[in-house]
Amino acid sequence: MTRRRWIADTWTEDSAALVGDQALHLARVLRAQPGQMFDVVANGFLRRAEVESVSEFEVILLLHEELEADASLPVHLLLAVIKFDHFEWGLEKVTELGAARITPVIARRTEKHLAQAAARRVERWRRIAREAAQQSRRSDLPEIDEPLSLTAALAGVSAKRRLLLAETEQEHTIENALRQKAVNEDNDFSLAFAVGPEGGWTSEEMQLFSENGWQHVTLGPRILRAETAAIAGLAICSALLR
Ligand code: SAM
Repeated sequence: MTRRRWIADTWTEDSAALVGDQALHLARVLRAQPGQMFDVVANGFLRRAEVESVSEFEVILLLHEELEADASLPVHLLLAVIKFDHFEWGLEKVTELGAARITPVIARRTEKHLAQAAARRVERWRRIAREAAQQSRRSDLPEIDEPLSLTAALAGVSAKRRLLLAETEQEHTIENALRQKAVNEDNDFSLAFAVGPEGGWTSEEMQLFSENGWQHVTLGPRILRAETAAIAGLAICSALLR
């Protein structure tokens, strides 16, 4: 039987707590009752869990045996800050697809008012990611970084394989790059890929990526919206990295 999954806010060795919006939703909408069973991720482990007590502020669960859980995709996405409704839709979908980390990047062509407001949206973005992770039955949360300049974002990338999705690239496809790298490299499947803003990356930014060892790749002849490119890129990774 598939049980609904929650990601605990706090935990001890044998209990976990859901607070805030999660507790309110469980208490008011789902009318959770003591004795009800859920799957709960606590301290990075997926466990079967039994509701012990319910209030609108806190739901306490007793943790039972550990369950098998799929690992997230070892993919770090650098996504330029774009119009927030598009950014948030993309963020939700790449979380469902399993991205491990998402860095919002203030690109040269990110609109000024979005760049200024981005830092205040991070908590909302983390909430969106949490809901998408739970809904898609992930056993972990993607890390959502504070918005960074491109230089700072590049400095924070540890993945060996780095792919810049560039609509100007015509020869090298993301698919070939992933297949070649998978053959060439040992057991390190970590990967970073970057998606630019509505107006694309500037040539200086593209140059900076190259200097930092990023390979430029195409998703095909059509120009996709940034959020579509992010989702398509992640779906291809999820098919080829496994
Ligand atoms: N500057 C472009 C234009 O107006 O012609 C559009 C940029 S596109 C909307 C936003 C981002 O999506 C790009 O910077 C790139 O990262 C990614 N992208 C869109 N289509 C792509 C494609 N066919 N191949 C690779 N990346 C693509």
